Amino acid sequence: MESLETLLALLRQNDLKITPQRRVILELLIEDDSHPTADGIYQRVLAVMPDVSRTTVYNTLRELVHLGVLAEVQEVSGDGLRYDTRTGPHHHLFCTRCHTLIDIIRDFEGIILSPEETAGYRIMKHQVTFYGLCPECQKREIN
Ligand SMILES: [Zn+2]
Ligand SMILES: [Zn+2]
Repeated sequence: MESLETLLALLRQNDLKITPQRRVILELLIEDDSHPTADGIYQRVLAVMPDVSRTTVYNTLRELVHLGVLAEVQEVSGDGLRYDTRTGPHHHLFCTRCHTLIDIIRDFEGIILSPEETAGYRIMKHQVTFYGLCPECQKREIN
């Protein structure tokens, strides 16, 4: 994710006021590479800002996705939508037990569809998810 200053400048350029809520959300996100859920972010904002509404947090997250500084991760777990502060191309490693999701930064060569396979689709991106058990969950399995 960009620096706080860059993000605040981007909000201003898009006529979005820098409210205390938006600032807190950005500050939390900048330090969070855990792919939090919307509700997870809401709970953390709530801890420092008890009067914040869920709608405000959810709307802000949507605005940030719209601005391209936050990405949505779909279909990895039953947790609902998760947010990714890394917006560039990358892949994921997912623990099926505790739902930890970490980034894999590398190119996998040969992931390309033939014209027949794309069936006329215009491909925007591809993302690979590896599913497994993280070291912590493996330890719990033994004990
Ligand atoms: Zn785990
Ligand atoms: Zn990611």
